[in-house]
Amino acid sequence: MKKAFKPVALLLLLFPLLLLAACGSESLAAVDVKDRLEENPEITWGVKVDTSLFGLYNIEKATIEGFDIDIAKAITKEITGDAKNAKFVEVTSKTRIPLIKNGNIDAIIATMTISEERKKQVDFSTVYFAAGQALLVPSDSSIQSVSDLTSETTVLAVKGSTSATNIRKYAPDAKVLELENYSEAFTALQSGQGDAMTTDNAILLGIIAKNPDYRLAGDNFTDEPYGIAINKGQEPFVQQINGALQTIKNNGVYDKIYAKWIPKLD
Ligand code: GLU
Repeated sequence: MKKAFKPVALLLLLFPLLLLAACGSESLAAVDVKDRLEENPEITWGVKVDTSLFGLYNIEKATIEGFDIDIAKAITKEITGDAKNAKFVEVTSKTRIPLIKNGNIDAIIATMTISEERKKQVDFSTVYFAAGQALLVPSDSSIQSVSDLTSETTVLAVKGSTSATNIRKYAPDAKVLELENYSEAFTALQSGQGDAMTTDNAILLGIIAKNPDYRLAGDNFTDEPYGIAINKGQEPFVQQINGALQTIKNNGVYDKIYAKWIPKLD
């Protein structure tokens, strides 16, 4: 006799497994990071690996380099006594919040704007970098500013970024094509899939430094203050991060890192 499919029975069977999976990630995220650091001093940072100047994988050296990486190392040194305790995990704009919610990473330092929307899910450190959204176009483009983006133009942006949301407000008629990350977005611009690419000025300057036949079109049209994101319920760890940030700002370490990576933005 053919047995009838019983979804309830299947659910009951799966329930312990689902519970285990849910508890697994929740308990990892629920561990107090400051307490854990006393036993295991490693801090796992979510960082970009395709963003020139901030977090970029150097194939020859097999390391990730950039402003965010050096700030993460300096903070790790302040908190744990050794910069080598900084471990890095790749994130994109889309994956960074899910990864921290699951407890896969302790903190995000990845060109991330502090926003009210994101504050519903994560806490932020004080501001560690002031960026603003801008437009990148080929040097010979007729686009001079965001007001030149009409229904005839396609703008490339990255999923999960504030830039993808903001551009719909500042250029409501333009078509927006969202890519997975910044290397894909720039490749799409190079291959003519869009007329302009939008994200923070500092990220775009990193692209221009390696691709001098591209330029910014117009001024920044938003403020994008970067913060380090930490999971909700980790107030002691947030305090530690803010304390370390203040120390490196006071003792000149921050200024050295800034001068090493950030080109003059004017
Ligand atoms: N700062 C903007 C953001 O947080 C754009 C850069 C990024 O995608 O990380 O969304």
